Amino acid sequence: MSHKITKRQKRIDGLPDYWMNGKFKNINPIIHLSIHPNILAFCAVALLWLSGARLLAQNDSDIVNIRSVDSTIVLDIRYATPNNFTHEVLYPAAICMLRRAAAESLHAVQQELQKQKLGLKVFDGYRPLSVQKKMWALVPDDRYVANPANGSRHNRGAAVDLTIVDSLGNQLEMPTPFDDFTEKAHRDYMQLPEKAIEDRALLEDVMKRHGFIPLSTEWWHFDFEGWQKYPIMDEPLK
Ligand SMILES: [Zn+2]
Repeated sequence: MSHKITKRQKRIDGLPDYWMNGKFKNINPIIHLSIHPNILAFCAVALLWLSGARLLAQNDSDIVNIRSVDSTIVLDIRYATPNNFTHEVLYPAAICMLRRAAAESLHAVQQELQKQKLGLKVFDGYRPLSVQKKMWALVPDDRYVANPANGSRHNRGAAVDLTIVDSLGNQLEMPTPFDDFTEKAHRDYMQLPEKAIEDRALLEDVMKRHGFIPLSTEWWHFDFEGWQKYPIMDEPLK
């Protein structure tokens, strides 16, 4: 077998001529490109420190704007408009804030729906406790509004109200409009068109698979698992 190496082969191997001539010619360059163990150890420690710092800076329980996690979810924040059951504007900004872990799970739901050319439309996320009190003053009935004495899971940034839209932004057929406080909105209500039952099940199924717990009396409401560990807040929406 010939050891003669043509110029073409050298170009293909990408090795400079000096590896082929003189003292390096019998040495495998890959094996000898080693890094000192101390440098490796330093890099490992630096990486660990950086990832730890990142985790501290981006805690799961941070409250974040859903837009910073997913820019494609449609927002229809009803309490920032008079188009809600109180007929009053209760939020100064039409934004959805959620605990980071919940926001990231919602992003995963969105990605899954997008494969079917569908997406989410959010009606409500974090709700400051003072707004809960205002709602209670207007409608002091715990069939419709969580008593602020106990707080709502929305006050913890760990609940979301939402539906599904198609690629044109049209809402799928659900049993009722948002905030319809009748038994028609209950998840076990079945005297509905087949399509409404199917669409309700589609939303419930995808949300459950990403860590959300459906509320039995409102097809649009989901709590995020572990909601108990997030404290009730009264930071304004902005
Ligand atoms: Zn809700």
